[in-house]
Amino acid sequence: MKMKPVNRRTFVQGGLLGTVAAGVSAALPASAAQPDSAPDPKKIPNYNPAMKYRRLGNTDMYLSAISLGGLVVAEQVHHYAIEHGVNLVHMANEYLGGQAMKTLGNVLKTRRKQVYVAVKDTFRDIDAALATLNTDYIDFLMFNRHSGTSAADPGILETFEKYKKAGKVRFAGLTSHAGVKEATGAGIRSGMYTLAMPALSQPNLEAMDEELRQAQEKGVGVMAFKTMRGLKDRDLEVAYLKKLLRNPGVTTALKGIGSFEMFDAYLKGVNEPLTSAEDRALYRYAQANRALNCMMCDECRAACPAGVEVSTVLRCKDYYYQQVGDTQTALATYAAIPAGKTGGEECRICRRCEGVCPNGIRIVEGLTAARALFRQLA
Ligand code: SF4
Ligand code: SF4
Repeated sequence: MKMKPVNRRTFVQGGLLGTVAAGVSAALPASAAQPDSAPDPKKIPNYNPAMKYRRLGNTDMYLSAISLGGLVVAEQVHHYAIEHGVNLVHMANEYLGGQAMKTLGNVLKTRRKQVYVAVKDTFRDIDAALATLNTDYIDFLMFNRHSGTSAADPGILETFEKYKKAGKVRFAGLTSHAGVKEATGAGIRSGMYTLAMPALSQPNLEAMDEELRQAQEKGVGVMAFKTMRGLKDRDLEVAYLKKLLRNPGVTTALKGIGSFEMFDAYLKGVNEPLTSAEDRALYRYAQANRALNCMMCDECRAACPAGVEVSTVLRCKDYYYQQVGDTQTALATYAAIPAGKTGGEECRICRRCEGVCPNGIRIVEGLTAARALFRQLA
């Protein structure tokens, strides 16, 4: 089924999916937020019986269980995934130095009516972003905030309200790349957001149990990202996808899909239950590889006398080594870290951060490797 055409005026008037106040969709009670309640296929944009769909919080919208991440945009694979029922795509201007946005714009030339579009607020000029994406509105404007205070600050919605009045955005969302638990929890409780986008790798899923429960209670949808961090094996990835989707607090799993085979494996996983053998394999893997997996909890930064942005530095290294070919995002993110916050000589005799890291990550080694890498790439 194709998505019903939406023009800017239609949704500004609240005609399509109800009114939206401060980014929160009106309408259904929290108790109605049952991700697996049988939806009416006619009401689901881009419905395909091969895909599973889950209700987005308290809204009457349904999102596909798999959504497409923006760090990997393979044009033909995006078309393929959308043909197989995906109805949500995510993007940020910074990905691949802006190239990912252009590529998604090519896809949206013919697919805009089939998908919801979420964009992280890293652009300076929304009109330029809309033009590149070949659309006149964004469905979810994702605010990127890294602390409870900034995530729940109602002042940040001023931008959203301005764009919403102009018919350029529909809903407010929240993402965070540091202090994830605190920022996501505060954002969910604030009632300001329709969609939260927390990093939910294996250890985070455990650590965020309470926030996922609150998301359900408050009727906030959850788009899990950085889900496969630390997993190196396709079978484990698919097992973890099943585990994620077993959690009723998770609406959709966001993933950069780089090949047809990968999408097929994920789609198969969406339709199968997690077996106890898979769950055990995930547990064993998580125990053995915990120290490879930064949860972006920011315990280290809180303990650091120099306020080193440890999780961001480690993330930049991951962009380079794990997101194949994404040197640009790695370099741009590393360059944006304030001077003196990437760690240095002082780390050799300090190591306080390692004492508080819940995952036992060898942080100083990671920071040193990152410095060497980015010196080389610069
Ligand atoms: S080792 Fe470096 S990053 Fe860690 S707490 Fe000390 S100064 Fe901060
Ligand atoms: S390095 Fe450890 S303490 Fe720091 S953000 Fe990552 S998981 Fe948390």
